Formats: sequence, C-alpha cells, structure tokens
Amino acid sequence: MKICFCLLGLILLSLIGCNNNSLDEIWESTETFESGGKMRVATTTTIVRDLVRVIGGDEVDVFGLMGEGIDPHSYIERPTDMIALKSADVIFYSGLHLEEKLQENLEKLDDSYAVTAGIAKSELIIPEDKYEAYADPHVWGDPELWGHTIKVVVDVLVAKDAKNADLYKARGVTHLAEMLELKSWAKNRLSEVPVEHRILVTSHDAFMYYAKAFGFEVKAIDGLAPGDKGGPKKVKELVNFIQEKKLKMIFPESAANSKGISAIAKDAGVAVSAHELFADATGKLGVMESVDGETYDVGSYIGMIKHNINAIVEGLK
Ligand SMILES: [Zn+2]
Repeated sequence: MKICFCLLGLILLSLIGCNNNSLDEIWESTETFESGGKMRVATTTTIVRDLVRVIGGDEVDVFGLMGEGIDPHSYIERPTDMIALKSADVIFYSGLHLEEKLQENLEKLDDSYAVTAGIAKSELIIPEDKYEAYADPHVWGDPELWGHTIKVVVDVLVAKDAKNADLYKARGVTHLAEMLELKSWAKNRLSEVPVEHRILVTSHDAFMYYAKAFGFEVKAIDGLAPGDKGGPKKVKELVNFIQEKKLKMIFPESAANSKGISAIAKDAGVAVSAHELFADATGKLGVMESVDGETYDVGSYIGMIKHNINAIVEGLK
C-alpha cells in the first residue's frame, strides 16, 4: 500500500510540475494545437511511433514513450510519460495487451486509440493453452496485417485535423502499398532458404504471425512476453528439437536478454546469429544498414522487417 501511495505522489508531483520546461523536453514547440501549433501525438512502442511518423509527417509532433530495445510487455510509465500522455492531443498504442502494464491507464485517457483495432478478430492468432484466450499481440510480423493499422491512424488524424486531411490520406495509401511491397519482397528473399531450414528459434514467442505469413515453424524459449519464462523442461525440449532438426543458427532479440539463447546454443551445439532480431521494437532511428546494395533505416518499421528477413536468410540458407 505504501508503494502505491509513493507512486501516486510521484505522478501528482510530476503533473504539478508540468511547466513549460518539461513540455519543451517532450514536444517540438510549446505552442498548442488549439493555438495554431502542430497536433501533439503520444505513441507507445517504436513500431507505433514509426507508423504515426510516416502518416503524420511534418504536420504532427510525435513523442514515443518507449525507445529502441525496450520490452513493451514489462514497460512501466515514467513521470515524463505521464506529462506527455496528459498534454497530447491524441494517443496511439499497439493494444491487444502488448503494453500489458499500461493498457488499463491508456484506455481511460481521452483520445487514445489502439491501432490493432483495425485488424479483424478472425485474423488474430489465439495461442492454445495457457494464454487464456488472449490474442497474440505481435501482429507486425506480417506486413500485410500490420497494414490494417494504417486506416486507424489516418481516420483519427483526419477527424482531428481536417485541414491536412488530404496529406494524411495520401500518405496512408502510399504506406499501405509499401507494406504489400514489403511482404512480397520478404517472400521472395525468404525463398532462398531451403524449405527444411525454415525454422526460427528466438528468445520469446513474437514471431507467430511471421511464421504464418511466410511458411516458417517458430520456437521460442519464453512465452508471449520475455518475462513469461519457459523453464528447464522447455529448454531441454528446445535443445533436443534443434539437434533433431540439425538447425544451423538460432537468433537473439534486441529487447530480450540473450543469455537464454546463448545457453541453449551451447547445449545444442548450434551457432547464434551475430544479428539480433527486432522482435518488439525497431532499431535506433537514423541507423542505416546496407544489404545487397539496398540501404534502409533500422529505426523504421520497413527497415526493421528488412533487417530481420536479411538476418534470417543469411543465417539459415
Ligand atoms: Zn513480445
């Protein structure tokens, strides 16, 4: 109980102290949307931030609560985040309980939207057994499915900021085409991996939509969240599986501890990829990567997927 009061006190203090100095650290300008400034949009994960950055362009001011390499399942808001959420005109989050510790609070705030609300329930994967009928939230593993989130962002921005409606709509159309192109590029690139090698072993169960979209089998040490530990039995099964399938490589993730993957690799006698996969967060915005003469920003959603696919192909082909 004491801890709860302390936390509440901290939040209240941070809100009382919500002066222009703290707003300066969050938003580009202290001018509000009502007084002619840009619409302020708070986002949770780097993947959602990128979606809003692409569709909103220079017309919106985007703040991301979580940086690269952050596990959204276990993330707890900081005092700055509370100020950002309270001073934002719109809030976008991923949803489907990805932001497990924040979702209840996000739902209570005005003008907050889960981008995954744009995806039909029939398209969602409901894992068997222990997840109590919760849908798997890692929908961005399939670029076509993630493309359904575009409409949610476009519709909200258009409704809030009619004067820039044409820009948001046009960017939405272009981005959707990019998603479909990305999926077809990925399918083509993954065709370099022999069918019997299309098995992806990672730290946590974040690649089920990827598996469905691209015909892979996926196995992970931990469950839907990195904190959902697999335990010794799961580890032993995974070691046996890797040896049985004669896997060439397994993959660490950028937002999960790689100790488990390293230990399994040692026991199974398999290599660990030098490239961490971006499972629940993009890379750092502005960090460029070049593969086969193509350069992309790993801090963007498109760059994140290209990085993952290129690493998987190089490791398993
Ligand atoms: Zn995850």
